[in-house]
Amino acid sequence: MPGSEWLKDHPALLERAYLVAKAAVKRLYPWMKRVHPRWAERLMITGEEMVKGYLFNCQMCGQCILHSTGMTCPMNCPKNLRNGPCGGVRPAGMCEVIPDMPCVWVQAWERSKRMMIFAKDIQVIQPPVNRALQGSSAWANMVEGKDEQAPKGWVGG
Ligand code: SF4
Repeated sequence: MPGSEWLKDHPALLERAYLVAKAAVKRLYPWMKRVHPRWAERLMITGEEMVKGYLFNCQMCGQCILHSTGMTCPMNCPKNLRNGPCGGVRPAGMCEVIPDMPCVWVQAWERSKRMMIFAKDIQVIQPPVNRALQGSSAWANMVEGKDEQAPKGWVGG
């Protein structure tokens, strides 16, 4: 989508929006959950599907690391890599699996260089994605700390 591609190519704007959204969700979600837990979660999921779905083609992994990946969703990588790129990037930065698609990780690297706050975070080794959180709200998981629970045995990071 052109709108989202333009925004993703301006990650310095998005990282600021991320900080504002994070602060707002941290304040609002606990209050919403006290009022109506089920609706609160449903609202978060719907909001995320709409906003992040449009902006980032979010796959609702429930553990958002966009600010560590140049505001480029790593779950759009056909190999679902949380650390990339793989060794198969084609010439001109195209994907090994889908040759006419730009490599998500090449885009992430290029975009991260344009970030002002989180530029270095792309060098942090990410734990394997927790598939148990698939379909849940990464915003809610962030408030509740669920997104930081690495799988047992993980010693990286
Ligand atoms: S929540 Fe997961 S799938 Fe959605 S944008 Fe963030 S990293 Fe990508």
